[in-house]
Amino acid sequence: MAINYCKIVPCVAFAGVMSLTVSCNSVLATDSMAAPALYSQLEEFHGHVCAGSIFGVRLGLAAKEALKAAGGTGKFTARYYDLSCPVDGIQVAAGTTYGNKALNVQDRDEHRLVLTAEGNKRSVEARLTKKAEEMGIASRDLGKKARVLSVKAPERVALEREVEDIFAWLRSAPTDEVVIVTTLNSKKVNR
Ligand SMILES: [Zn+2]
Repeated sequence: MAINYCKIVPCVAFAGVMSLTVSCNSVLATDSMAAPALYSQLEEFHGHVCAGSIFGVRLGLAAKEALKAAGGTGKFTARYYDLSCPVDGIQVAAGTTYGNKALNVQDRDEHRLVLTAEGNKRSVEARLTKKAEEMGIASRDLGKKARVLSVKAPERVALEREVEDIFAWLRSAPTDEVVIVTTLNSKKVNR
C-alpha cells in the first residue's frame, strides 16, 4: 500500500532545515500547549520536524483536554481521517497509539481528529483553524524555495529561519488560534 505520510506538508522538503532546528520554544506551556520536551520526543519519534506532526500534537492535546473537560470516562480512542504526519503527533500527544489499539486512521484527506471516551461514549472533534492551515502551507512553500538554494546562501538561511518561526508559532500559539474543538452532537466547547 502506498503510504503518503506528508500529504498536508511534504515534510521531507524540510530535510535541509532540520539541522538548524533547535528548541526555541521558551514560551511557558499553558492551556494545551505542549512542553518543549514533548516536541523533542515528537522529533525523535517522527524522524523530522514538520508542520504536520506539530499539528498532530496540537490536535491531540486539545482534544484530550476537551474530552476530559466534557466528562469523558474510560479509555480514550482516536480516529483520524488522513494518513499523514499529524498521526504521529496524535500518538505522542494523546497517548492513543496504533499499537495499543486506540488509534484508527481512515485515509480520507481530512485533517480531523475524533476522540471518544469508551466509558460513556462522549466524543470531541478537533480540526485546524484556517490560520493554522495557512501557516502550514506557508512553511511548505518557504521550504521549497529554500531547498533550491545552496546550503550556505544567506537567502536560504533567511528562508529557513522563517520556516522555524512558523514552527515556533504552531507549537506555542494559543489553542484557539490553532485548533477548533467541538463536542459531537452537542454544544461547542469553548476552547
Ligand atoms: Zn512530517
